[in-house]
Amino acid sequence: MRFVPGDRYHPRYQHVYILARGANIFSPLANLAEPLPENQLDLPKTLLEKAHYIGDWHRNSTTFHCMVVQAGDFEAPIEGEWLLLRSLLGKIDESHFQMLGRALQITRWAREHQFCGVCGELTEARAGERAMSCQSCESIFYPRISPCVICLVTRGKDLLLARHNRKAADFFSTLAGFIEPGENAEQAVIREIREEVAIEIENLRYIRSQAWPFPGQLMLGYLAEYKSGDLQPDGEEILEAAWFSPNNLPQVPPPSTISGQLIAHHLSSIGKSIK
Ligand SMILES: [Zn+2]
Repeated sequence: MRFVPGDRYHPRYQHVYILARGANIFSPLANLAEPLPENQLDLPKTLLEKAHYIGDWHRNSTTFHCMVVQAGDFEAPIEGEWLLLRSLLGKIDESHFQMLGRALQITRWAREHQFCGVCGELTEARAGERAMSCQSCESIFYPRISPCVICLVTRGKDLLLARHNRKAADFFSTLAGFIEPGENAEQAVIREIREEVAIEIENLRYIRSQAWPFPGQLMLGYLAEYKSGDLQPDGEEILEAAWFSPNNLPQVPPPSTISGQLIAHHLSSIGKSIK
């Protein structure tokens, strides 16, 4: 299975539908959180008209146009349940997760931009691009993502991992934060690490990125090396931070997250793997 995000809709393939309700996705009992063909859903015309195209879904050598519908109180005529997207992390493959994350972000954006943020009038979808525009003052609203940086700091073989106040208490992760207006990504990494644990870093290296739909981040993943300073968690975002030997790691994020991937990247570079 493979999902390729797309914006420009030219009818070519059969449609499959994702049903969204807030942060939940409809999951048919038979196939965990998979999109469903039109003929199984019997969607009313009012919902079909508001479906958003989000990309193409390649499955068993067939390609489908993948659509998402904000389902409201519509109930699918087949057996299934509404699942929080977060509960599917690590249970479905990365491409499938990316598809559902994109679906929720698009429906959320459409729901939050029914009215103009400048003058309060109704908006309407713009032809030819994914945007809502105000019928009165002509302001245009595009879907918005929030760029974040996430960084694994190393000191020799050791890894800097921290317990965040918003995560499970026994969970140690890499450091992360939002990029501020006017800042570049590298400046954001240096600032966040200075603010959160009071150390300086060097040899910053970009590794990869991950869309993180909670609710709309793009995580830019870096490795960096320790330069100077003593670890001092800020006590607000970071409750505890420490250097861990690769042989004695605490519970770390799963490999479905970019944090887990940065940790695995470092470990493999020194000939280790996560147990
Ligand atoms: Zn307006």
